[in-house]
Amino acid sequence: MRAYRLKFSIEEVRVGAGAEGNLLRALRYGDELSGTYVVPSSTWKGVFRRVSENLYGHSSAVHDGAGVGDEVREALEALRKKLKDARTAEERRRVSYEVLSRLGEVGAVMRHSFPLGQAEGSKVERFVGEMAKVAEEWTCPLEATYGTLYFAGAVTFSDSVLRPLEVSLTSHVSMDRSTGRAAEGNLFQEERVRVGSVYVTVVLRREDVTLELWRNTLRYMAYVGTGLGSGKSRGAWAVLDASESQEAEITLRRPEWRKLSLG
Ligand SMILES: [Zn+2]
Repeated sequence: MRAYRLKFSIEEVRVGAGAEGNLLRALRYGDELSGTYVVPSSTWKGVFRRVSENLYGHSSAVHDGAGVGDEVREALEALRKKLKDARTAEERRRVSYEVLSRLGEVGAVMRHSFPLGQAEGSKVERFVGEMAKVAEEWTCPLEATYGTLYFAGAVTFSDSVLRPLEVSLTSHVSMDRSTGRAAEGNLFQEERVRVGSVYVTVVLRREDVTLELWRNTLRYMAYVGTGLGSGKSRGAWAVLDASESQEAEITLRRPEWRKLSLG
C-alpha cells in the first residue's frame, strides 16, 4: 500500500455548488463568514479518472470477458458444467461457492456480486459470462484503479480544504446570439476562490495492475495538468508540483515520507 501527499499549483478554484439566483457559488461547508471551501474527494476521483482514461485509451464499456487468464477461464468452464448438472438452488449455490473460492480475491468479488443459486438452465451462460466480465475488469488497470459497480477501486482520495488568499466575484454576461448584444437579465456572477495551491492525500491499496497507469497519470498531471472544478477561467488549471509532493510505503511502522518520484 502506498500513500501520496500531492501538491497542485492552481490559481483559483470553483467547485460548483449550484446557483443562487444569478450567482454561481463555490462549494463550501458551513456559512459564508466562517465556512470552509473544499474540493471534495469525488471531484478529485473524476479528474484523475478522466486523465487515466485518456492515457489508457479505452472506455469502461469494452470488457466482454474474452480477455480473462487461463485460471479464471478454466474455473468458469468447470462452473458452467456443474451448474448445468445441478438440480437445486442449494446445489447451484454450493458448486458456485466451491469454484469461486479457488479464485482468491476476484472470486470473492464474484461471489458477492451475484445471487449464486439462481443461475439455471438458459441463465447459466449469461451468469458465467457476467463472472468473466467482472474477472476481466478486475485485471484492467483502469477499472482496478477506479472501481466498477462490482468492486471498489484501488485508489482513495481525501477532500481538500482550501486556504483562500481571496474570494471574489467575477461578472459574466451571456450574449444573445441573434442580436450580438448582452442578453437581457443574463448577467451572472461567479464566485472565485484564489488559492495558489491545493493539497490532496491519496492512498493506493492495490499495486499489481494499477501502479504503471497510476504513475503515468501522475506524470501527466505534472507535465500537462488538468482543469479542476467548474470555473471558466484560465486560473482553474491544476498542475502537480512534484518537487513539493511526497509518497510513502504504508506498513505497520510509521510511514517514511520521501519526495515523489515520477520515474
Ligand atoms: Zn477496463
